Amino acid sequence: MDKEKIDACIRILEELYGEPLARQVDTIDLLVMTILSQNTSDTNSLRAFGRLKTAYPDYEALLAAPESKLADAIRAGGLAEIKARRIRETLQKIRQDARAITLSFLNEMDGKEAMNYLVSLPGVGPKTASVVLLFSFGKHFMPVDTHVHRVSRRLGLVPEKASVEKAQEILERIVPPEKYLSLHLNLIRHGRRICRARAAKHGECALQKWCDYCTRAKSLK
Ligand code: SF4
Repeated sequence: MDKEKIDACIRILEELYGEPLARQVDTIDLLVMTILSQNTSDTNSLRAFGRLKTAYPDYEALLAAPESKLADAIRAGGLAEIKARRIRETLQKIRQDARAITLSFLNEMDGKEAMNYLVSLPGVGPKTASVVLLFSFGKHFMPVDTHVHRVSRRLGLVPEKASVEKAQEILERIVPPEKYLSLHLNLIRHGRRICRARAAKHGECALQKWCDYCTRAKSLK
């Protein structure tokens, strides 16, 4: 991957959407939010999270409540029973390991160790773990969601057939670590607004010059 292209994509996206900074979100809230976001839209998962926090302002209260009540509270996010079980089991495991519901001990671990711990939790996969490690701990991981995956393949930052795991591995190699957060969030914004899965707005796209998909499409005309 040529450095000029990756630098140009980062710069153009920052000109369009700004350089996003990590927001201060409670680490456990972020973990729970990310579990709730699995297989549903942002709108639904945020609604489910809002209802969960209203019903259980603190996580000890959540653990003391029946799982069926938790499932009722998060029903707006879909897969309510499965997610309720995952959230409870994850929080129970953290409380058992840390003697409190906190992940602050991950600060003492290097990235690989912290990743291994998080993916050992029920319902936490590499994407959820990468989000938590990047946003809450500033560790060098580049989460790949559906938008990052699609836009980075269309642009040709990663091969067209790259899996999510392969795309993450390549992006972590070619993107300067201090730009992981910015590129991750800006590719999501670009994927929602311009480079949509269906009906992408190629004509309005500021990345056209650097885009393999567009270059290929033009050469076929
Ligand atoms: S030119 Fe089209 S395919 Fe390429 S990034 Fe822009 S919208 Fe996506």
